[in-house]
Amino acid sequence: MAESAKKKVVLLGATGSIGGSTLRVLRAHTDKLELVGVAASSSHHELAAICREFNVANAVLSNEAAYAEAKAANAFPANTQLGCGESALIELSTLPEADIVLVAVVGACGLKPTLAAIEAGKDIALANKELLVLGGAFVIEAAKRKGVRLLPTDSEHNAIFQCIEGHPQQHLDKLILTASGGQFRDAPLASLVNVTPADATQHPNWSMGPKITVDSATMANKGLELIEAHWLFGLEPDRLEVVIHPQSIVHSFAQFIDGSILAQLSPPSMTFAIQHCLLYPDRAPGVDATTDFRNAFQLDFKAPDFERFPCLQLAYDAMRTGGSAPAIFNAANEIAVERFLAHDLAYLDIPRVIDQTLSKVDIAATTTLEALLHTDAEARAVAHSF
Ligand code: NDP
Ligand code: MG
Repeated sequence: MAESAKKKVVLLGATGSIGGSTLRVLRAHTDKLELVGVAASSSHHELAAICREFNVANAVLSNEAAYAEAKAANAFPANTQLGCGESALIELSTLPEADIVLVAVVGACGLKPTLAAIEAGKDIALANKELLVLGGAFVIEAAKRKGVRLLPTDSEHNAIFQCIEGHPQQHLDKLILTASGGQFRDAPLASLVNVTPADATQHPNWSMGPKITVDSATMANKGLELIEAHWLFGLEPDRLEVVIHPQSIVHSFAQFIDGSILAQLSPPSMTFAIQHCLLYPDRAPGVDATTDFRNAFQLDFKAPDFERFPCLQLAYDAMRTGGSAPAIFNAANEIAVERFLAHDLAYLDIPRVIDQTLSKVDIAATTTLEALLHTDAEARAVAHSF
């Protein structure tokens, strides 16, 4: 393939868990993919190393102190342009030479760079779910209007995307998202009162960043993913279901009106979904070994228990209410998890903070982006004051 035919990739969140898996995919496909921009918050040593290894021309550190340190240490290669702050992040997301932006920052801070990238005509590989829960209506509208691809990188949504491709929307009956159930799936309910951040950041199947690992334990993650699926696939809440599947091998199901159900399978590594998005519509050998049916294994499924997972119920309710309710759910959850990780809140207070924030902040039925960002800020303040 000619040098110019390589797909040029911008990676937001290069130093995180998805970022690391993406780098593995990029190393394996240097003939097809080229990294032209990377961003992190404050991990400047790691970001500089990535720039050296991949010869990246554009980098951003959003954290000002980290940016100043990196500048003082002269740590980045001379041919890497280093920027700082939100405006630099937006500039990076709209780089003229970029073809696709992989959004793997954590939290709603991903919304503005993603909208800017779409407006600049970039395809998006979307790992970040919080930004869709906050601003899904605006992201979907902009992507349709600009005719860019919104490729789902979250494993469940990537699975569904692969299952429904080529099928008309009217043939689709419902989507069934699989969930591992996290690390406390079978723990005695009474023991949850003692859960520490160290306990909640260990996942049995997936190696992920701290926020999503806590979200998996509470199943707020599956709640966010239901709302993400609602926006990506245009289905109403009653046609979106969750099933607990402890092995994390079936990544989701699409059920058609005649009762046939399609699934996508692979071991629990994000490289499968990341590579699918970055090479789409092409395919190439993967970087991890896939499921091998010559070795016997079991797949189990069971319905979720809403008493054990109140965050899942709260997410369903917020999705059914619609308007700004999902944005409030997301903001309250982000703050609650941040406070839990800082030992400022008990594990069982996470759903309480979300519930209380949803009851205190006014929910608007329809809204502008500015009003939504205002609601997001208000919900964060309420969640802080719990
Ligand atoms: P991590 O916490 O491991 O990584 C987050 C990355 O984002 C880091 O590179 C971090 O930089 C960077 N970052 C955070 N804030 C900013 C900012 N304001 N500007 C620029 N960069 C920033 O998270 P994960 O990789 O686990 O998750 C990323 C997203 O993908 C989340 O939305 C998550 O829900 C989703 N996701 C993750 C999966 C996984 O397997 N990990 C699976 C499916 C979805 P720094 O290192 O400097 O802090
Ligand atoms: Mg997922």
